[in-house]
Amino acid sequence: MIESTTSIEFRSDTFTKPTESMLQAMMAAPVGDDVFGEDPTVNALEHSVADFFGMEAGLFCPSGTMTNQIAIQVHTQPGDEVICEAGSHVYFYEGGGIAKNAGAQVRLVQGSFGQITAEQVLPLINPDDVHRARTRLVSLENTCNRGGGSCYDLEEIAKIRSLCDAHGLGLHLDGARLMNAIMAKQEDPKAYGKLFHSISLCLSKGLGAPVGSVLLGSTSYIKQARRVRKVMGGGMRQAGYLAAAGLYAMQHNINRLAEDHAHAKQLAEALKLCSWVGEIFPVETNIVIFKVVGDPRSGLNTAQEVVAKLQANNIRVSAMSPTHIRLVTHLDVTQEMIHRTVEVLKGF
Ligand SMILES: *Cc1c(COP(=O)(O)O)cnc(C)c1O
Repeated sequence: MIESTTSIEFRSDTFTKPTESMLQAMMAAPVGDDVFGEDPTVNALEHSVADFFGMEAGLFCPSGTMTNQIAIQVHTQPGDEVICEAGSHVYFYEGGGIAKNAGAQVRLVQGSFGQITAEQVLPLINPDDVHRARTRLVSLENTCNRGGGSCYDLEEIAKIRSLCDAHGLGLHLDGARLMNAIMAKQEDPKAYGKLFHSISLCLSKGLGAPVGSVLLGSTSYIKQARRVRKVMGGGMRQAGYLAAAGLYAMQHNINRLAEDHAHAKQLAEALKLCSWVGEIFPVETNIVIFKVVGDPRSGLNTAQEVVAKLQANNIRVSAMSPTHIRLVTHLDVTQEMIHRTVEVLKGF
């Protein structure tokens, strides 16, 4: 059993620290000035991620917020409307960036575990009428963070894409944790490249790189995106040191995501036995979200009380709302840490 003083971090898969071998890969990277397009490691990362998804081009950016925000700016004009789910990161967690950066407005859909359907999207596409905003883009998220790491079915995405084609809309994917979905459902990454006009992929979540996201699209789309990245201050110079971590992550940290998914399921099994736990969202990947219903005998009645009691045991989780808690597994969470967490939960 690991020491009870060892802190176990479930607040996010962004807490991972680079391993010694990832750091070595970073230190050894050949670099150049990427704003001039001359950093060989950035170029290699952009090409390899684009190839992986069967897309034409990629753009390395400091964060997933930036790749999403650039993507939306390239797809839209000010005054346009973006259709997305009510809890989607692009709307819920990007500081109003769609309004501020793109000058566009959103049309929200209440999804099921973060997922929306073609049937829901169709009536929200505005007619060509001077009174109405010009619907221009549909943005999906996979896996869905606030949906508990849920994964779309490719068939539903294909239906949404058909609608987009019929109405001249762009289709963007916030794929911050797309690799988790692909691993969980054993999908062909190239299917995503065919279905979306643009994809944002985070290297700094489950893949374990310290920094970075890649935006993917057609050659002409990424050419425009590169201009927007510069305007947003995202043009980095010898960024190859960071891109090398992303290349390393793509080579070494994809298959192991299955471990994180197994760990998340073990946590959910333990939570099911807790009297103070209500609904647990279906666990498909590395996220566990559950409702605290409370139990007077346990003294645990609010999400904050659960967070505090776990923290007293050196287990860090986050409250998503006054009633819901999220745990995220990742490559710095070991099987031993899962065991200890299960034991602590049994003792509550
Ligand atoms: C983390 C995340 C992002 C991007 O976040 P950054 O912290 O800006 O890299 C985008 N979408 C989702 C669903 C995320 O979880």
